[in-house]
Amino acid sequence: MPELPEVETVVRTLEKRLKGACVASCTVFYDKLVDDPDPRTFEEHLTGETFLRFSRRGKYILIQTGHYTWVAHMRMEGKFFVYPDASLRDKHTHMMISLEDGRYLYYKDTRKFGRMELYPAGEKIRAIENLGLEPFDERLTPEYLKEKGRNRVLKEVLLDQTVIAGIGNIYANEIAFAIGRRPSARIAKMSKKSLADLIRETRRILTQAIEAGGTTIRSYNSEPGITGRFQLEVMVHGRENEPCKICGTPIKKIQYKGRGTYYCVRCQK
Ligand SMILES: [Zn+2]
Repeated sequence: MPELPEVETVVRTLEKRLKGACVASCTVFYDKLVDDPDPRTFEEHLTGETFLRFSRRGKYILIQTGHYTWVAHMRMEGKFFVYPDASLRDKHTHMMISLEDGRYLYYKDTRKFGRMELYPAGEKIRAIENLGLEPFDERLTPEYLKEKGRNRVLKEVLLDQTVIAGIGNIYANEIAFAIGRRPSARIAKMSKKSLADLIRETRRILTQAIEAGGTTIRSYNSEPGITGRFQLEVMVHGRENEPCKICGTPIKKIQYKGRGTYYCVRCQK
């Protein structure tokens, strides 16, 4: 699933390629893709709009047009592509937007979990109103984590989008390794210094990944229409039984709330 760095990369790429482009028409082929309004209204409202500003909140993409905010969440396998024509539509293409300059914006999604919404400009965006702090927000402090993490463990807090927005399973595993703590470490038992380390390492790892253009773990593409450009070095995620890159101990995998959780029994306490 794309996490903050990948979504950030998609946002920056879309902005580079689509800023100022006007929508000639929009067709939704898979109606469940659009949560709100109904798909026909979505198509109608987006037609004639110009893409003005692109931003990210947590794992959500926000595209501002003259009259609307288009909110997209790619979930597991969603991808955008910008193609010169309409010939590349396949069974995984769930939306196509033809642009007045002749290009097409495709949304493809093999798993069909991605969702779109369109809000009139200035209206409160319900999809993002309960999100927690961005990792780079200066209000993210050890005290904030202590308060939010009462009775909870490290991994749970990292994945909770209402505490910190944008971190998913891969980066949660990597961050826990970077600070030498087990995913099951209780936040209440972590010192102020440990929590400060946690914040610093979270920012370092996300920044590095943004700079690398997002990871290409699984089939995820960071550049619309271009595949496999980036690969971030992972320390533990997806490395079950492979030697720890620090101490050589085989990486352990457990299931935590249905998510594959990887850690080194020696490096992480
Ligand atoms: Zn180790």
